Amino acid sequence: MRPIQATISHSAFQHNLNVVKQHAPQSKIMAVVKANAYGHGLTNAAHGLNDADGFAVLGLDEAIDLREAGFTQNILLLEGLFSRQELPIAASFGIDLVVHSEPQLLMLEKAQLKQPIHVHLKMNSGMNRLGFTPAQYLPVFSRLQACRNVSGTTLMTHFATADETLGVTQALTLFQKTTQGLQQPLSLANSASILRYPQTHADWVRPGIMLYGASPVTDTDAATFNLKSVMTLGSEIISIQTLSAGESVGYGHLFTASKTTRVGIVACGYADGYPRHAPNGTPIAVNGVITQTIGRVSMDMLYVDLTDMPQAQIGSPVELWGQQVSVDKVAEASGTVGYELLCALAPRVPMQAVA
Ligand SMILES: *Cc1c(COP(=O)(O)O)cnc(C)c1O
Repeated sequence: MRPIQATISHSAFQHNLNVVKQHAPQSKIMAVVKANAYGHGLTNAAHGLNDADGFAVLGLDEAIDLREAGFTQNILLLEGLFSRQELPIAASFGIDLVVHSEPQLLMLEKAQLKQPIHVHLKMNSGMNRLGFTPAQYLPVFSRLQACRNVSGTTLMTHFATADETLGVTQALTLFQKTTQGLQQPLSLANSASILRYPQTHADWVRPGIMLYGASPVTDTDAATFNLKSVMTLGSEIISIQTLSAGESVGYGHLFTASKTTRVGIVACGYADGYPRHAPNGTPIAVNGVITQTIGRVSMDMLYVDLTDMPQAQIGSPVELWGQQVSVDKVAEASGTVGYELLCALAPRVPMQAVA
């Protein structure tokens, strides 16, 4: 078997959940486990995050997987339903739904459900992706109140710039003005808002990326927020080459040695989810020591500079990202964010949960 493996730390999940609690002690926590729990494995992550008050996913199939695995917390479908046929199924499993569009509202009004559903009414506060405008919001709210298939409504929005200098003030003010006087529970904050804007915490918070120990803010690393990386992507050196000055390594000869260079070949490539755009110099750890990648990442392998590491050999352990090399650093070098790298972990990478 190839030596590559993703290790998922349940104690890191618990640690990060506690960081959420420290920031938002009054709020219930809806752990966002969409996209296969940001690449960490849905039920695996849910077990690690079992102390959360709820889980948020996209698909009804994911919600049912969680129910069938025994999770009794609230489960919310972040984009609501995609077809009428799903409605009685969602109701029978006790799944909560986002309502963000008129067709979704009509679906609820026309259905004959055995069990009423709790809904999250989404307001578009400037993201312009999903949700009702402030002008539509109260009339829609009244229709939900009158709908016999609805057992209750949580008021919800999602901030477009919580992780940017722009912040949330404008969107938050708009949301507060629109929902003024309503007594329903509120759900506003993603990870960036949890860490930066206590005024958004409200009844529920919706942390995603911070639970996995990566940073929601590009210029601040996860350690600054006291977050611990949950996933360690590890592999091994499977071959060693020595380049003379002027020789190159890998496709396109992206790296050419200026002096004698010892190169380790690592069993990990873009087909495992490692970014092909990672340039020469991306941090990577061998035997627990930080060095750098060289050459172009290929499908199943990449190259690492071992020139100053004579002790490294075939079989030496490599950390692509994890505790030693944060996924955010690899993402930054590659022109993306930790979110994308974690989500893109390939199904072929074996995953192991550890305490
Ligand atoms: C993905 C998502 C979140 C979590 O966002 P993070 O930045 O990962 O914390 C919260 N709310 C909604 C609506 C989302 O789609």
